[in-house]
Amino acid sequence: MSAAADRADRLADLKSGKTFDLLVIGGGATGCGIAVDAATRGLSVALVERQDFAEGTSSRSTKLLHGGVRYLEAAVRKLDKTHLKLVLEALSERGALLANAPHLSRRLALVTPIYRWAEVPYVYAGLKLYDFLSGRRSIGPSKLLSRAETLKMLPGLKGDGLKAGVLYYDGQFVDSRLVIALMRTARQAGAVLANQVEADAVLHDDGRVSGARLHDRLTGERWHLRARAVINATGPFADHIAKLDKREAKDILTVSSGIHIVLDRKYVPPDAGLLIPKTDDGRVLFILPWQDHALVGTTDEPAALDEHPRPAEADVAYLLDHARRYLSADIKESDIKARWSGLRPLAFDPKAKNSAELARDHVLIEAESGLITITGGKWTTYRLMAEQTVDHAVQQAKLSAKPCRTETLRLFGGEAFDPKGAAMLLREFGLEEDVAQHLNRTYGDQARFVAELAAKGWNQRLDGKHPQIEAEVMYAARQEDATHAIDVLARRTSLALVDREAARRAAPAVVALMAKELEWDEARCQAESALALQRLDGAL
Ligand SMILES: Cc1cc2nc3c(=O)[nH]c(=O)nc-3n(C[C@H](O)[C@H](O)[C@H](O)COP(=O)(O)OP(=O)(O)OC[C@H]3O[C@@H](n4cnc5c(N)ncnc54)[C@H](O)[C@@H]3O)c2cc1C
Repeated sequence: MSAAADRADRLADLKSGKTFDLLVIGGGATGCGIAVDAATRGLSVALVERQDFAEGTSSRSTKLLHGGVRYLEAAVRKLDKTHLKLVLEALSERGALLANAPHLSRRLALVTPIYRWAEVPYVYAGLKLYDFLSGRRSIGPSKLLSRAETLKMLPGLKGDGLKAGVLYYDGQFVDSRLVIALMRTARQAGAVLANQVEADAVLHDDGRVSGARLHDRLTGERWHLRARAVINATGPFADHIAKLDKREAKDILTVSSGIHIVLDRKYVPPDAGLLIPKTDDGRVLFILPWQDHALVGTTDEPAALDEHPRPAEADVAYLLDHARRYLSADIKESDIKARWSGLRPLAFDPKAKNSAELARDHVLIEAESGLITITGGKWTTYRLMAEQTVDHAVQQAKLSAKPCRTETLRLFGGEAFDPKGAAMLLREFGLEEDVAQHLNRTYGDQARFVAELAAKGWNQRLDGKHPQIEAEVMYAARQEDATHAIDVLARRTSLALVDREAARRAAPAVVALMAKELEWDEARCQAESALALQRLDGAL
């Protein structure tokens, strides 16, 4: 079946008039995580995303699976059980994700340089406590490093004033690809998910929420979908949906922007990431190896809601300045290969009764109408947030559901993933080494299907300097719901996130390949090129 017919089929399901158990609004980490959880419990699930899957905050993160080390200080300082529980939860979620999406995640060494001897006992004792709490969830022991060892792990680091370093481990992942893996896992379990479909009104029966009016942004068509429970998983836009439910609904969110810049691969720290827990103005700074480039983040500034936030020049200058402070190389502005901004939903639960609820960084609340809102939190704990949300919906709507099984559920592409699978791709399909490695890590046990497309002739690189190939465009259009060229450039592949110029060069080829597959006419091709270039010019 063609990609267009596939989409038409899905939309027909959403328009069929059937009442679903759950309607999930929002196709980021939270919404797609909920769809996986609910569908694998046997519930009927509809999910709508008004842009592309992961086009919101979920493709704009630092891509770290935090084991909750930041809650540890509060747990110790305040001798607080609640924060301790959060550390344990985050450690457990980090472990689950590393196991369930092994193709898209990995262990990453992080080194914090120490410039004052007085800091050593404090930082070291904290990390040893973290090791102890990690127990069987540990992914490697933390270690105090000498000055020489620190510089060996981070050869680019400035040596001035450096006394020692501390090494610890966290997880790293490919955020947009993980949303795609969640979307496909949910679909495999029977959920109906569609992107480019907006919920633009909330429906009520006798004052109770009963569904939403949906709007297909590609065709303009509108219709109603009914569900026994409706979940608002729209991240930074959660207040907007709450107000569609009840105009006077109180805001529960403030929004802040966090930007990243990506530096040329010559600045990539080879074996470890650099973590500065507190810069001189109190922010956390990361310089991480990611997709063969150096990812530098992040900032935290009050921001306005925007579907395509643009990184402020002042924030770019701040990151560049701080990268220069810690790295010895002379980094030029032209070394910035890409930049993007994401909006953090900072949630406050107006009904929180105790410190446990306040300490959480996600909020799960039910409006008078029954609309369930889940927002805030972090990528690392999306699975737990999903489990709690579905538990709530099951109870609220008295649904008959099986127990949650996502803790050990392998996600799409991860089930038969072989870390050494690139060798098979090299042998059977004659791919170049870096391309084979890239396909194996990106698609896991599905890499063979992309390689088969390459064998049919779609085997050229999208850009000479990068491992992404034409076959991925075809696969994205056929199997992964890519509807715009920029979806492929920014979220099915990460090309636009690591090298904007390369993405610009690749755009015409991506448009041409998608045009054939999705039957675009000349006008649509022009519109697609313009859209891709517009996004690549500033606000991804
Ligand atoms: C700079 C930054 C760095 C971060 N780094 C990390 C990190 O390293 N590790 C970590 O664990 N977490 C990190 N986070 C947090 C993490 O990214 C978020 O917690 C997570 O992505 C939120 O996912 P979400 O699905 O709730 O929101 P989103 O990803 O924003 O998804 C909400 C979706 O709802 C859609 N939507 C909105 N309105 C409608 C509508 N009316 N109809 C249909 N769809 C709609 C939007 O288009 C969007 O796609 C970071 C966040 C930021 C901003």
